Amino acid sequence: MAVATTLRHEVTELLQRLIQIDTTNPPGNETPAAELLRDYLEDAGVSCELYARVPERANLVGRIPGRGDGPTLLFLSHTDVVLADASEWNADPFGGELRDGEIWGRGALDMKGQAAAEAVAIASLARDGFEPAGDLIFCATADEEVGAGFGASWLCDEHPDAVRCDYLINEGSGDRVELGGNAFYLCSVSEKMSAPFRMRVFGRSGHASMPGIADNALVKAAPLIEALGAYKPEQQLIPEVEALIETVTGERPTSPEEVLELARTVSPLLAEMVEPLLSMTLSPTMATASQKRNVIPAICDIVVDSRLLPGTTTDQQQKIVRGILGEGDYELTSLESHGGTRSEIRTPLWDAVSTWVESVDPGAKPAPVCVAGFTDSHWFRQAFGAVAYGFFPSRVMPIETAARLIHSADERVPVEDLELGVSFLRHAAQTLL
Ligand SMILES: [Zn+2]
Repeated sequence: MAVATTLRHEVTELLQRLIQIDTTNPPGNETPAAELLRDYLEDAGVSCELYARVPERANLVGRIPGRGDGPTLLFLSHTDVVLADASEWNADPFGGELRDGEIWGRGALDMKGQAAAEAVAIASLARDGFEPAGDLIFCATADEEVGAGFGASWLCDEHPDAVRCDYLINEGSGDRVELGGNAFYLCSVSEKMSAPFRMRVFGRSGHASMPGIADNALVKAAPLIEALGAYKPEQQLIPEVEALIETVTGERPTSPEEVLELARTVSPLLAEMVEPLLSMTLSPTMATASQKRNVIPAICDIVVDSRLLPGTTTDQQQKIVRGILGEGDYELTSLESHGGTRSEIRTPLWDAVSTWVESVDPGAKPAPVCVAGFTDSHWFRQAFGAVAYGFFPSRVMPIETAARLIHSADERVPVEDLELGVSFLRHAAQTLL
């Protein structure tokens, strides 16, 4: 009990101090946060190293070396946060105030809270004299929110030996949800790929007073945009959805139609969760044509937001889009794509999540999900083939509340959830290593 009280106090204080360091990205300036964590971890006997592409944007890697015969486990977090407009807040976004059992401030949920819990987990294990079979690594990166090449991608490319791992725990999910009267903890095992593209439609410019002599690219784009908007993508059954539905309903679905049917019988929330995971999405969002009222545009650019199921490539996406649009005066260009990676569901890390859930919440089970957004996990899956899960348990704060607060005003985290996180991370390390 005394130990638990101390860890609760420790994670609270560490998170408060992290929030008080303004790491709004851009510009980031994450180095003071990395140094705070380094000093804290070194006090506990965890050896640390800062890695920085530019001095003001350091990444921190801490490590308890393994005896050498086991797998490596990495706790991943990022120290940067998104902009906070103080006028919209009911507290100082960089105050780290503790109010009614919750710590308030930018990054409390995304993701200084988990960073603090990961630091406390590894520090407390080090103080306990934990001797893991393989390395236990703590990695707090810069630049997740913008992804301009100072954080995880750069570390994996330039310092692979520092961050190579077999298993990785990151942000992404962990919420406790009730579905059909039973409790589940969502654990993200894969991510959709963000694969936006540009459709450039060609015409011929001319004076707007004489439309007959020109060929208006904006007008030509209209039916193409409509076709994209009207397209109903073909639905597919991915393993994550199969496993999620089977976990929750006890029945293994055999078709996408059956997924929605089964999900609806359990709860509208489940149907809402799985629907975007049955197909790719296409959403035209930006349009540019003439910059002058009296000039008919020769070019019209349409940017389309598109999310692909893991396993789908941008080549396949382009083929589908050409099929929708048919022949015409346009070209498609893929813009920067991210994510779209997955990890196996049945792994020793899954077992660790599972045994922890059973121990703290008897009768509850973990449920695998594919998330629509992407995290830094994909760099580690791509570089090292790591099994990466997004899991940070959240039991006190409902999933709807958390979803509303992330990247928004009044972001805060219950201390009890942080404590739960520390307990899970310690369990994962002790079980796997
Ligand atoms: Zn985040």
